[in-house]
Amino acid sequence: MKISEIQIKTYKIPLPEPVEAYAAGIMKAFDLVICKITNDDGIEGVGYITVHENQGLAISEIIKNSFKNILINQDPRYIEYLWQLMWKNVHYAGRGAPVSFAIAAVDVALWDLKGKCLKEPLWSILGGHSKKVLCYAGNIDLNFSKEKLLTEASKCLNEGFKAIKMRLGRQSLKEDLDRLESMRNHLPDEIALMADANEAWRVDQAVKAFNEIEKFNLVWIEEPIKPDDFSGYKLLKSLGKVPIAAGENLHTMSEFNFLINTLGVDFVEPDLTTCGGITPFMKIAKLSEINNLPVISHGVHELHSHLLSACPNASYMEFHAWRVDDFIDGKLSIENGFTSPSDKPGHGITFDFEKLNSYAIK
Ligand SMILES: [Mg+2]
Repeated sequence: MKISEIQIKTYKIPLPEPVEAYAAGIMKAFDLVICKITNDDGIEGVGYITVHENQGLAISEIIKNSFKNILINQDPRYIEYLWQLMWKNVHYAGRGAPVSFAIAAVDVALWDLKGKCLKEPLWSILGGHSKKVLCYAGNIDLNFSKEKLLTEASKCLNEGFKAIKMRLGRQSLKEDLDRLESMRNHLPDEIALMADANEAWRVDQAVKAFNEIEKFNLVWIEEPIKPDDFSGYKLLKSLGKVPIAAGENLHTMSEFNFLINTLGVDFVEPDLTTCGGITPFMKIAKLSEINNLPVISHGVHELHSHLLSACPNASYMEFHAWRVDDFIDGKLSIENGFTSPSDKPGHGITFDFEKLNSYAIK
């Protein structure tokens, strides 16, 4: 079997309303990069990544300029080999983002192609553990007024979610605590609550925040400090106040290895689009399992539903604000806090390219 064609398209998808995170600021749209890989039997695998607005083209150019030539005529079944080939090819300017995003788009397409060739869903060929994926709503944002924060949380509960994550990182800790208290009082006791600080604090500020936040019994606090302050994460975890989630801004397996070995994390949070695809995500999930840690996910929930279904140590999957629901056949549904991946061959997600056309930027 050979790869006969690779096509790359980039789109800018507007968000229904602006959302804000401390590190990223206000987001009004996101970029979507889709990579189609066709084999010599005409079977097509589709990979995609989402990224901040105006960053998609840089990623699609890496695929076009650095990967296309080395992948054409290769056997698409040998994903580990092709992953290493891409990694080595851009090693000098790479070993991280945006190269990891570019590898991820190709890697997902290869896995989808493999699933389609084998006529098996992705969650099954990745190992298959449980199709019941626990999920949470992750789009309760920093720029929302307190009233809107609570209204949006109620909407998520009506959609079937049993867990909700809100963002922290307002001007003062007092304001964050006030919003947290309102949310906790608003939610029924059985609804789980997480918080995401999106790197808002220095370590000393995080220590103060943890002392105050402990009483809210959060499932986790996510990215309290910048992602690569590993000794900071170690210190915060050693306090034993609030479980810590981190990983969405790590881009290599080595960074995850370091975070886990530093004892700086309770919930390991890889995002297949930021860490190089399904291939490294599954290794990070297994490394977490070996270290008795749960794995959670960030972004592209349709894809992650397959990956977490293959992980015995899976915890919550995030339903992210960057949604492609309007452009796909294969939108996930939520029932009583759980979702399930598609049973179609591959990832089972089919894009409506005609509908996407008006959002194309290249
Ligand atoms: Mg986050």
